[in-house]
Amino acid sequence: MNFENTLAFATKQDELDPLRKFRNEFLFPKHKENDFIYLCGNSLGLQPKSVQEVMKVQLDNWHNLAIEGWFEGDSPWMYYHKELKELMAPIVGASAVEVCPMNTLTVNLHLLMVSFYQPKAKKFKIIMEAGAFPSDQYAIESQVRFHGYDPAEAIIEVRPRTGEYILRTEDIEAAIAENGEQIALVLFGGVNYFTGQFFDMEAITVAGHAAGAVVGFDLAHAAGNVPLALHNWNVDFACWCSYKYQNGGPGGISGIFVHDKHFGDLKLNRFAGWWGYQEKQRFKMDKGFVPERGADGWQVSCTQVMPMALYHASLKIFEEAGFITPLRTKSEALTGYLIYLIHEVNNALGQLLFEVITPAAASDRGAQVSIIAKVNPKQIFMELVANDVLGDWREPNVIRLSPVPLYNSFTDVFRTGELLMRIGREVLK
Ligand SMILES: *Cc1c(COP(=O)(O)O)cnc(C)c1O
Repeated sequence: MNFENTLAFATKQDELDPLRKFRNEFLFPKHKENDFIYLCGNSLGLQPKSVQEVMKVQLDNWHNLAIEGWFEGDSPWMYYHKELKELMAPIVGASAVEVCPMNTLTVNLHLLMVSFYQPKAKKFKIIMEAGAFPSDQYAIESQVRFHGYDPAEAIIEVRPRTGEYILRTEDIEAAIAENGEQIALVLFGGVNYFTGQFFDMEAITVAGHAAGAVVGFDLAHAAGNVPLALHNWNVDFACWCSYKYQNGGPGGISGIFVHDKHFGDLKLNRFAGWWGYQEKQRFKMDKGFVPERGADGWQVSCTQVMPMALYHASLKIFEEAGFITPLRTKSEALTGYLIYLIHEVNNALGQLLFEVITPAAASDRGAQVSIIAKVNPKQIFMELVANDVLGDWREPNVIRLSPVPLYNSFTDVFRTGELLMRIGREVLK
């Protein structure tokens, strides 16, 4: 696409946008009298208008059916998660039996590591990206300690080369190969929360398996954002949250993926609970845990109906939009446009005030552009907010702007570029 730095261009793109109607299916936060230009969907997706009705249905079920809601009504709670599984599968490129909604993200990361981090004698290390989201760092650290190892020894972090922000795939592959004999688990993000880099997950999986390691991913910033093919890439396990790109609501339900090649392995450790027990026998309340086949066998507690209803409402919008492929086309155009406009600003200012640290190649990034502001970064961020553009701030100097294809427009991106120009001029005065 040949971008132009004009409102007319942005307006035209919005008219041509096959997804434009979806913007109207979301509620936008207000800033004084105006709607925010919301570029924070990487942290908390917006509320679909439909959730009010969906929640009302479940509240009515609770009211009218009470305990019988588990087995009665249009959509009994006992089987409610199955409706979500069908809709989650295309988001991550899996079959429905390989995914399940449950718990929250970090909890699931722990539960899956109980099964898939099996350190042995010399093969006890975990390799991960440096600068991973803190919750993942803490989870991994504490799992390593739980098995009696020292995190300083057992965790290998792959970091970008000096002066670079982006991890090179060949460096990840080399680090895995070099330490192959010692690595029990490769655990990466799909999209890095700080830089927005979309890792080559298939290459990482191939490298991990070649080293005889298990390979898992945290897809918090990837699910609902970028195209994923977890089954075909042969990923062992993954988990994600629903509240970022999937608009599942604050603290919303998480999802897990377990590759079907593991379903027959009944020796895998699990921290079990009654909901993971064979569904047909569950209420016999027998002694001795036997897992349900598939990702469902990792469930612990009973179905969290309310957060699942929120996630369900949002997944229905993804279904209507055609899941990821059409969204990805628009997403690449939106981030491409934003990066183009930032270059325009720098050119006009005659200096690199805003350095884009997100990969330039659309295939290597998600719906997020991270920029380092070289002068008064915090002030620039505050000025954006004061002028109705809500991105987010990461210490010490990074502004993340995330145009989400379901509800952001080319005009949103144009206005943001215009504002960066105005603020840039003021800061440099
Ligand atoms: C957002 C995010 C989390 C948050 O975890 P919760 O358990 O949902 O609070 C964890 N890991 C990554 C990589 C994230 O981006």
